Amino acid sequence: ALPSRPEVAALPVYNAGISASVARQLSGRQDIAALASNENPYGVSPSVTVALRTIDPSRYSDSSASALRHALSKKLDVGVERITCGNGSEELIAALCRAYLQKGDVVLTVSPCFGLHEIEPMAAGAEVDKVPMTEELDFNIDVLEEKLARRPKIVFISSPSNPVGVALALPALERLLAATLPGTLFVLDEAYLEFIDADYPDGLKVLENWRGLSWVVLRTFSKAYGLAGLRVGYGITSNAGIARAMRSTLTPFNVNSVAQAAAIAALEDDGWMCDATTRIKADRIILTERLRKMDVRVVPSQTNFLYLDLGKESAPVAKALLQKGIIVKPWMEANYTNFLRVSIGTAKDNERFVQELKPLLALT
Ligand code: PMP
Repeated sequence: ALPSRPEVAALPVYNAGISASVARQLSGRQDIAALASNENPYGVSPSVTVALRTIDPSRYSDSSASALRHALSKKLDVGVERITCGNGSEELIAALCRAYLQKGDVVLTVSPCFGLHEIEPMAAGAEVDKVPMTEELDFNIDVLEEKLARRPKIVFISSPSNPVGVALALPALERLLAATLPGTLFVLDEAYLEFIDADYPDGLKVLENWRGLSWVVLRTFSKAYGLAGLRVGYGITSNAGIARAMRSTLTPFNVNSVAQAAAIAALEDDGWMCDATTRIKADRIILTERLRKMDVRVVPSQTNFLYLDLGKESAPVAKALLQKGIIVKPWMEANYTNFLRVSIGTAKDNERFVQELKPLLALT
């Protein structure tokens, strides 16, 4: 075979999980509970469905996503020149790595982490330094501070964390920002922001007070707004120069016209999003309590999923659940293979998960 670049040959493959259609084939069941990808179980706002019908697919999309960026600018009170839209926020992670990394650069993140926070830097030839979460599964701020002092080129932190679910409290976030030196790009990935409880900070509002630093806040329409399949994410940067660098590495027309129209409609119907996240947060409490009663260690979650320590390898459990038509995500990262990530679905799907998990936990 034609050899790829050595960095590419060494890459772990992103574990995107299996789709509902593959799960139907494998389980022989039609009624799939899709609890692996942190999607919105309530679909999308009705106004999104209406907006989709207005699109002429024969025309190119607006390459600058101007209307969407203006809508975000208004909502977030951030200059439009500091907003970049991507084909999912995944694409913006890749763009940042292409824009800022060279072979040998160091990228700092945590372990366990969102797969692309490791894969994209590696693809760019960078070395990834992962700081393990504490025993209690919280961010290890002391060690992160020490490593930030060594000026990594980029630091990727998802808060709320995928996969752990915990979020940075304000003092912890401020400690990390205070430890960030010139020459480091601080990337705060807030894919799950809309699911936090009121005592946690909105990262963008905090970072706006640190405009002297180089930073990016990443967000997505895939989770709370239910647009995972359309692929729309956005980044807000501390200055327009970072946005320009990202844009330079993106392909033109990267966000398609359907996705742009849907995202604008979704933003206009914030009420729908708030109703969905309120239900998901209430069900998060119920599912956490149900599982704890079964003696499962559940990490307190600020997201639309739970991270469970099964006390044994999670992959066989996930496989057995799949046979029952339930898709969940066994964690494959070193030291965390006893963990399972399960999305908060409808009350019915959550209950089905609990009922099917019970007998599997009893098996040794
Ligand atoms: N960041 C984090 C932390 C995520 O969990 C995800 C989705 N799993 C993404 C980014 C990417 O989301 P999307 O590309 O769908 O916007």
